[in-house]
Amino acid sequence: MADTDREWIPLAVPEFRGNEWPYVKECLDTGWVSTAGSFVNRFEERFAAYVGAKRAVAVASGTAALHVALRLVGVEPGDEVVTSALTFTAPANAARYLGALPLFVDAEPSYWQLDVGKVRHFFRTACDFSGGVLTNRETGRRIRALLPVHILGHPVDLEALAALAGEYRLPIVEDATESLGAEHRQRRLGGHGHVACFSFNGNKIMTTGAGGMIVTDEPALADRALYLTTQAKDDPVEYVHREVGYNYRLSNLHAALGCAQLEKLDEYLAARRAIADRYRAAFGSLRGVEFMAEAPWARSIFWLSTIRIDRDAFGMDSRALMHRLAAERIQARPLWQPMHLSPAQVGAPVIDGACPVAEVLHRDCLSLPSSVGLTPVLQDRVCHAISQASRL
Ligand SMILES: *Cc1c(COP(=O)(O)O)cnc(C)c1O
Repeated sequence: MADTDREWIPLAVPEFRGNEWPYVKECLDTGWVSTAGSFVNRFEERFAAYVGAKRAVAVASGTAALHVALRLVGVEPGDEVVTSALTFTAPANAARYLGALPLFVDAEPSYWQLDVGKVRHFFRTACDFSGGVLTNRETGRRIRALLPVHILGHPVDLEALAALAGEYRLPIVEDATESLGAEHRQRRLGGHGHVACFSFNGNKIMTTGAGGMIVTDEPALADRALYLTTQAKDDPVEYVHREVGYNYRLSNLHAALGCAQLEKLDEYLAARRAIADRYRAAFGSLRGVEFMAEAPWARSIFWLSTIRIDRDAFGMDSRALMHRLAAERIQARPLWQPMHLSPAQVGAPVIDGACPVAEVLHRDCLSLPSSVGLTPVLQDRVCHAISQASRL
């Protein structure tokens, strides 16, 4: 039996093909390992240029980026922040760190992203808007910001969301942590003039081990992000601080990895897309399998290739398929428990009181191996295992 027949195929692992070793070595050789250093600046400049934003501020994680970004746009204790129910937990936690509450909204069924239509309907029918302040009538709390999460590499409908933000004078903080390189109407996420957050965690499209980025076109916001993420030092010699800041800056060592990874990003994006294309071709005619869709106005990066299993048509449900794949040494994973069902988020309000689309997607979806380094031979093993399962 060839090695490739039993080799464990993980969901998503990092890829280091470029200048990671020489750049990290340079940090060690020069002693610039902490949060000051030329790689931090270089990483920020190149990242901002890549996404098409004026400024970028490198931070310790994507979660830290979200925390600071919400503070930048004025979220305060007791506020509500509109965010996706179908997401990893980090954006909901970021609102909580500030003493605010996430206000969860369902996903739409076409592209599985935040349902802007439901938010609009909620604002029109269940909120009061006066003096520039939007209030959730049921809770009496102020709705302070929109925090859309571009999940799985695909953008939220930003055009519709921006119209809503303009109408109700709400800032948009984008959680683009899963969607670096994705485009909304031919423009990369991060370049739409709002505050956007990225992550370089180990399972993301590019990694610094751990890390994140805040991008914005507003210099004042970028300056404030830098200030808050470096312990809000007003006088670094005399240690004077007028505000409570955070130790959230990215280190030069991490940024060295970031510079090297960014040089390879286009190559990695092309690899991810080729993987998605192969899966789509393989499952196009398989009964009961639906491959995630791409909106005509979007270019997804297919951070993870995710399929939706119709239990009756396919012959088994998503979890049974996950166990069968595991037996074939293939890692597949469900999407996140929807936030409105998460024990950690009890007490957070929910638009319309329910998120039925998120619940069905959570029940039916599985993400498939999507590493940049996934070879066609290994990917064929995944496709074969799924079509075998469909014949049982
Ligand atoms: C990965 C991720 C984050 C945060 O990333 P970290 O860098 O791990 O803190 C935030 N939001 C979403 C949706 C993510 O998938």
